[in-house]
Amino acid sequence: MATTPASAPAVAAAAQPDLHSLICFFQGEYVKLGEAKLPLMTHAFLYGTAVFEGIRAYWNPDEKQLYALRVKEHLVRLRNSSRIMLMSDLPSVEDFTEIVKQVLRRNNFQEDAYCRPSVYKNTEAIGVKLHGLTHDYYVLAVPMGDYIDTSKGIPTGTVSWRRTSDTSIPSRSKITGSYVNPAFSKTEAMLNGFDEAIVLTADGHVSEGSAENLFMVRDGVLITPPVSDDILEGITRAGIMEIAAHLGISVKERQIDRTELYIADEVFFCGTGAQVSPVASVDHRPVGDGQVGPISRQISKTYFDAVRGKLDAFRHWVIPIYTGE
Ligand code: PMP
Repeated sequence: MATTPASAPAVAAAAQPDLHSLICFFQGEYVKLGEAKLPLMTHAFLYGTAVFEGIRAYWNPDEKQLYALRVKEHLVRLRNSSRIMLMSDLPSVEDFTEIVKQVLRRNNFQEDAYCRPSVYKNTEAIGVKLHGLTHDYYVLAVPMGDYIDTSKGIPTGTVSWRRTSDTSIPSRSKITGSYVNPAFSKTEAMLNGFDEAIVLTADGHVSEGSAENLFMVRDGVLITPPVSDDILEGITRAGIMEIAAHLGISVKERQIDRTELYIADEVFFCGTGAQVSPVASVDHRPVGDGQVGPISRQISKTYFDAVRGKLDAFRHWVIPIYTGE
């Protein structure tokens, strides 16, 4: 099997279990991942016509409980993504939630995990289009630790690729095929020696990271690009706003210029995978004094406590998976 060279190791490549023996939901049944196979001619494989979500589940060792994070929000977004791609007729959010819970439960994870529900065009046919095709859905889950190092700030760089605009491929729909755009960005950033990409819109404003939303702090105010700047409407982004309100920090959604990041007091990424990930430098310019700033630290601490079900104020974010049923 051929692989391309990479200068940096993949993150999250911790001891992998036997992936093929994990349990997933596929074609209406709970089966082993190794048995869930699709024909080569599947439209979603030929043309990237699937939508997906990434849901994290956090292990709380004190409670011996696995908490799935923001499941409803992810499943609502999955429905919206599907709708944009002309795929309706899906199970209700409640029924889909039950499948997500079952998949996590049947894998008996006692560590952090990542769950991927996806709706895909399953017609076997050549033909570039969205209409007149059938679809199905699956849910799989794998163990997953940190996707980006969250313990210290990371070096980032603006990339030459631009975020696909809403007039090309809508960023608010998590379309598998559209992820080639962030893949170009991530790889350019990493091959240039950075850990993550800063991606601009076609008109040169800051949009987001390769698979994360972005916040900066200026004069004590949290600022993030608006949803009209070709970002994914991030669930973590909304959560950060909720945390900010809880902590009494004001938030503004407005366009951000690239060079504002050079003079920002703090910058951090957020996302299901990235969690809260402080940025140490942008295009070789240290952010602030290059250390994790006070607002990023406060938000990050609250976030990591909230996702493991440790904070009453954010208990509505999580659902326990092991309920003894
Ligand atoms: N932007 C992109 C392009 C992403 O893929 C993700 C990860 N889903 C995010 C932002 C962050 O979104 P969320 O917080 O909903 O995971």
